[in-house]
Amino acid sequence: MKYYSTNGNAPIANLQKAVVKGLAEDRGLYMPERIKQLPKEFFDTIETKTFQEIAYTVADAFFGEDVEAEALKKIVYDTLSFDCPVVKVKDNIYTLELFHGPTLAFKDVGARFMARLLQYFIRQDNHELVNVLVATSGDTGSAVANGFLGVDGIHVYVLYPKGKVSKIQESQFTTLGKNITAIEVDGVFDDCQALVKSAFMDEELNQHMKLTSANSINVARFLPQAFYYFNAYARMKALGKADNLVMCVPSGNFGNICSALFGHEMGLPIKRFIAANNANDIFYKYLQTGKYEPKASVQTLANAMDVGDPSNFARIYDLYGKSHERISSLISGATYTDDQIRETMRQCYAETGYILDPHGACGYRALQEGLKEGEFGVFCETAHPAKFKETVDSIIGGDVEIPERLAAFMRGQKQSVELSKNFEDFKAFLLSR
Ligand SMILES: *Cc1c(COP(=O)(O)O)cnc(C)c1O
Repeated sequence: MKYYSTNGNAPIANLQKAVVKGLAEDRGLYMPERIKQLPKEFFDTIETKTFQEIAYTVADAFFGEDVEAEALKKIVYDTLSFDCPVVKVKDNIYTLELFHGPTLAFKDVGARFMARLLQYFIRQDNHELVNVLVATSGDTGSAVANGFLGVDGIHVYVLYPKGKVSKIQESQFTTLGKNITAIEVDGVFDDCQALVKSAFMDEELNQHMKLTSANSINVARFLPQAFYYFNAYARMKALGKADNLVMCVPSGNFGNICSALFGHEMGLPIKRFIAANNANDIFYKYLQTGKYEPKASVQTLANAMDVGDPSNFARIYDLYGKSHERISSLISGATYTDDQIRETMRQCYAETGYILDPHGACGYRALQEGLKEGEFGVFCETAHPAKFKETVDSIIGGDVEIPERLAAFMRGQKQSVELSKNFEDFKAFLLSR
């Protein structure tokens, strides 16, 4: 499969290049040249298949031309070492729980897949050690670090702002050891990101070591997210509730919903989609007005969706031939304030006993308000509520149980390297490795 850039000014890339580079030369996002339709027979019996079987069929359509079948199968099965179950919340509303992976958020699926695909390419190549640099304000660092943990041939450096990520988050990437190095930067998130960018542009450093990013726009991180939408459809079909299915995705950078839309283009019979936003309403406004006007993000309770210029908008725009009409007839929007998020979490808990995290709350509410007669809705629970324990406890007046794998991180021994925000220090550190 060939990949082109959404900006249209970069050379066509093969899968390996798209994965290793992440972003095209013209700073556009890579798009697969074709999207393969899955045959009708696949959907006819999909409910009899396991999550892994379904995922492999989807993976084969995306990556089968470029990755040998047995290897791809192993990558898919290793990635999905946990389930993404569909759980009933009430009447016609179901949740797709995406928090059963190692770091309790949906980013685990993409990060684990990318790590294994990158390893595959390294083994085919010259076995040169690849170094992944990732700047994080919390969640991305943990998903990437855990996704790559123990993967031979790859070393990960996670840069994070000292004292500015929660203890729970910090424990998920500073206690791992092995091929993961956490770097505590005396600065803010933007300083971490600037260090990573400077490193990619530094010639001496690039000669010394092979550097790559594991950014969420990477095709190997975002496409595999389609797996769990096919599986959700299968599980709803088994319940006899898949005919008028609405998929609702709490969205920030729009990578997650974009992978669902790719699934739809492959023939996945979802009737329509809802992108649920917090107060960052750029996409919502686009749907209303046809104008895409990025702005600075505002801080909300659902902070993983605090994005003022969603990077995957470019992919959605490209996928539908830049047609506002096509986009707005398939996808509707919703936007909620922090007060509405709190109210929804309280109301859902009181009425159903289900504990929403602040991101999932946007999805649940959008279905509650937007479902029509005869439709069934599935919203993504993108993270486990225990990841936001203090917030959730104070809102619902409860005591969210901390899953054992999260508690285990918190018992671990923190190991980190402290650095200034000065690039020369970071560079000297990497050169010494
Ligand atoms: C990253 C994230 C989102 C947003 O996903 P996008 O793919 O960026 O739209 C939503 N919820 C949680 C918990 C996340 O970590």
